[in-house]
Amino acid sequence: MLAGRKGVITHAFPATNVSVEPARNYEIAPKEIVRLMRDFRTAGLEFLGIYHSHPNGKNEPSARDIELAFYSEEAYFIVSPHDDAPQPVRAFHIRDGRASELEIRIVQ
Ligand SMILES: [Zn+2]
Repeated sequence: MLAGRKGVITHAFPATNVSVEPARNYEIAPKEIVRLMRDFRTAGLEFLGIYHSHPNGKNEPSARDIELAFYSEEAYFIVSPHDDAPQPVRAFHIRDGRASELEIRIVQ
């Protein structure tokens, strides 16, 4: 999960993928989400996004990613581990069953 301040992501917090098919889907245990949200608040950070990878296939939201996207304001980052991926990291807003790609800006 990703957090930061004033809309700028500054911290990445790994979470365990508890999906029964971790190569195809991801799922974070609700308990871990609650714990991370509490850590964010304690650290004065805002929850800004979620990242996961697509080891097989393109790094764009799958039907299941869209179905299970519960956070309509936060960004969903999808990473490709493949050397030939045109955009190794992509980000999307997912709301009302639709994904729209976001522009990623790196700030110093
Ligand atoms: Zn996915």
